[in-house]
Amino acid sequence: MQYSTVPRVTAHDPFKDFPGSESQFKSMLNTSIAHFPAATTMKLFTFFLLVASTLLELTQGEKICSATDSVYSFKFGKWDATVLKDGVIRGLESFFANVPSFAVLRNVRFYDPTSNFEASQNMLLLRNRRDVVLIDTGSGESLIRLLRVVGVAPREVTAVLLTHLHGDHSKGLLDKTGNAAFPNALVHMHRLESEFWSRPAADIGQQYPNLPFELAINETVTTLTKLKKLYAGRIRLLNDLESPIRGVTAVLTPGHTEGHTGYMLRSSGKKLMVVGDTLVSRTTVIQHPEWAIISDTNATTVVRTRYDLMDKLADEKTQVLLYHDEFPGLGFIVRDGPSFDFSTVARVA
Ligand SMILES: [Zn+2]
Repeated sequence: MQYSTVPRVTAHDPFKDFPGSESQFKSMLNTSIAHFPAATTMKLFTFFLLVASTLLELTQGEKICSATDSVYSFKFGKWDATVLKDGVIRGLESFFANVPSFAVLRNVRFYDPTSNFEASQNMLLLRNRRDVVLIDTGSGESLIRLLRVVGVAPREVTAVLLTHLHGDHSKGLLDKTGNAAFPNALVHMHRLESEFWSRPAADIGQQYPNLPFELAINETVTTLTKLKKLYAGRIRLLNDLESPIRGVTAVLTPGHTEGHTGYMLRSSGKKLMVVGDTLVSRTTVIQHPEWAIISDTNATTVVRTRYDLMDKLADEKTQVLLYHDEFPGLGFIVRDGPSFDFSTVARVA
């Protein structure tokens, strides 16, 4: 993929709005927390309205099958689509290498008052007469249980598409006993992703000393080693713009990892892109594309990828699934002056 977009300064400089020190910020935060109960009812009401309008608008006139706090089903063209939430990751404020944690907390709270600094894990299940497809599998916490809730047995899953190999996206391929969770599925990932994490962990650690070794390198290398053994003969390596499933195109979006891949879905004239960790959530790298996640393999490349991808998604009004945003993570990238924001369908006419 070629990049023509030059990174720009965004309108949401995390340091611009709060010139004080970390301790001043904390004291301000404590003050605002003291007022939280009084504001809670209004916030919940606003949140309810937002969710209700999202549910209505996302369906674009089609029927919603079900919506709970972990399962959100909707029609996407000819597919029956379901977002499944595999728990949350806590400690969001420590995910960024080039932003002080207090600035992250401040932005998350400022832009999203309902947030308690958790990152969701939103996996996508697609079903038609032929295929049962999962895009990403979470960390294995609750995927099998959630599939059972929507009537899918593990042996029925025909394909798994991975955006990348970090554990919070790939470890759901292993069951609780360490065996293959999906005995009949073909597992797809980008060729570059497999090649990169097939190297010895120590070599990668030497080349990328800033990456957290245990979490971002060793665990990923170990997971791929296990997957190669458990899914022997059933791993398919993708090239850019290849279609692993009819109506699904792999789009190389490098930077978070070398072979990070988004998946563009097309059906009945509709488009939806699963963007993985290139655009993790609204209040972080969508509004601040220059923020570096501690596990970004190449922090320079990922910034270019974010701008390039958001330009296209905004121009083409493509619906997007955000993996780590508030469940179900569905909406649109929109322009906000020189920067970007995330909006539900209702706000994009
Ligand atoms: Zn992730």
